[in-house]
Amino acid sequence: MKTEIKLIKGDITTMTVDAIVNAANSSLLGGGGVDGAIHRKGGPQILEECKVIRNRQGKCKTGDAVYTSAGLLPAKYVIHTVGPIWMMGKNKETELLASCYRKSLEIADSLLVKSIAFPNISTGVYHFPKTEAAQIAIDIVKEFIDNNNKNIEEVIFVCFDDENYRIYENILAE
Ligand code: ADP
Repeated sequence: MKTEIKLIKGDITTMTVDAIVNAANSSLLGGGGVDGAIHRKGGPQILEECKVIRNRQGKCKTGDAVYTSAGLLPAKYVIHTVGPIWMMGKNKETELLASCYRKSLEIADSLLVKSIAFPNISTGVYHFPKTEAAQIAIDIVKEFIDNNNKNIEEVIFVCFDDENYRIYENILAE
């Protein structure tokens, strides 16, 4: 299967795709940034499902992912992944960010998702350097498409800020 990688600038909550990925925090109980936007626009259903997951397994570990329905959003699923907080590269941040993308893709593929949209995980209040984060995101998506993918036909990187958009544009053009 030929899987397409696309880049857009915009708000991930508006995306009509099978799954959107949320840059959640380990509490799974909501936060600011993209997480806040998803819960605000998706309505209380998403948080209710997150609470059920928390009661079952406790917090979500950094680098891990879980999924819920997407409430009032046009997507079918929200895949919540917990990105690493940037600690000057001393805390396995690179591996953990790669794990976020890999686990999210694994969950999506297992849900028979055909289209998935990613935000720029960890590049907001978690301060992961944007160029390095984009390179990891693109590398892991390409690796997954080439080696593990069964069902995903479209992966969309949704950049909210101009800087991330330009960085992705440059790397994808290489
Ligand atoms: P983190 O804690 O993982 O850094 P943030 O939500 O603070 O998460 O930021 C992650 C990225 O999400 C940032 O690049 C930010 O610009 C972006 N972002 C914020 N709101 C939205 C949105 N509605 N849609 C897509 N991306 C968003």
